[in-house]
Amino acid sequence: MCVLDVTGVYRHLAHRAEQAGATIVTAANVIAPIRDGKAVAGCVYRHNGVDCEIRSSLVIDAGGYKAAFSKAAGLHPGFERFGVGAEQEFIAPRCRQDEALLIVGSRYAPAGYGWVFPWGSSRVRVGVGILHADSTANPRKHLATFLKDAGDVGVDLRGATVVEDHFGLIPSDGLPDRLVHDGIIAVGDAAGQPSLVVGEGIRLSILAGQMAGSVAAEAVTKRSFKASHLQSYETEFRKRYALELRIGYMVNRRMAQWADDEWDDKVRLAAEFPASLMAELLQSQFSVGRILGFLATRPLMWPRAIRYAVKGALQLLGA
Ligand SMILES: Cc1cc2nc3c(=O)[nH]c(=O)nc-3n(C[C@H](O)[C@H](O)[C@H](O)COP(=O)(O)OP(=O)(O)OC[C@H]3O[C@@H](n4cnc5c(N)ncnc54)[C@H](O)[C@@H]3O)c2cc1C
Repeated sequence: MCVLDVTGVYRHLAHRAEQAGATIVTAANVIAPIRDGKAVAGCVYRHNGVDCEIRSSLVIDAGGYKAAFSKAAGLHPGFERFGVGAEQEFIAPRCRQDEALLIVGSRYAPAGYGWVFPWGSSRVRVGVGILHADSTANPRKHLATFLKDAGDVGVDLRGATVVEDHFGLIPSDGLPDRLVHDGIIAVGDAAGQPSLVVGEGIRLSILAGQMAGSVAAEAVTKRSFKASHLQSYETEFRKRYALELRIGYMVNRRMAQWADDEWDDKVRLAAEFPASLMAELLQSQFSVGRILGFLATRPLMWPRAIRYAVKGALQLLGA
């Protein structure tokens, strides 16, 4: 899983882009696409109260969960189901740095989960994410409860100080029908790419960004920005990730409905899994070989595994 110093990464990427000749405009709000027929041909943005234009052969929408640019450009209709997350970063000198914690159940995260992610130098992020549409609970309220109880689940926040506050949304509808059109590519949350078992978006946004960057560079070389030339990004992304994202989406929909006793049962089951397999499943990586290898050593789990496999296959086929 991926925990980032967001500002640091933005600065690092901006520095590399400037070194490669890019112009970075900060505090600019993109407000509309520029069209040339059906193709996207740039954008209008507001900067210091002034509307400005950038004409370009290709726009990459990396604008996050609102997908406002992709919607306005007619690429896809945006998203309706979101995970809503509240998170605080602490300097917590007593908190363990060698253990990440996920917590489930109605007290802390109805239709979602809570987390404690340490990430070095006494820093730790504690948060709660709740799937809206499946629950209307307020993640900030549940985070407060979780922080109050943290000591009961072995998270030592004594002497901790809050250094950052994060609140935001993550699209939880799965991939839209299209990720490219003439003059436009969507990546990251704007393309519905987070893996939904635990609402993890950074890793796939970075991978998709790299793929989009390669295809964009090729398009510049060939001077062709038609959807047919940009399609290789979408084809490659879907080939690598669409199935696992689809399964992750189905798992996410089911988990959002589990009551506490069902969670107790599933957590007991998960405790049987080797840590490496568990880590893969949390990343929506469902390797049939690895799962079968594990099940081969657990005959008592076969009836349940077969039930899940049949249900899952029927859902995938019906989808
Ligand atoms: C509380 C919380 C905690 C999370 N924790 C994790 C985690 O630990 N690990 C993980 O993998 N994922 C996590 N996620 C999900 C992760 O943050 C996202 O999936 C990821 O940031 C998506 O990256 P992105 O670049 O596509 O979009 P974003 O990171 O949302 O970036 C979009 C950028 O576009 C800018 N923008 C939007 N509209 C405009 C506009 N009109 N004009 C100009 N700029 C615009 C925004 O200001 C923003 O800077 C978390 C989400 C939340 C809400």
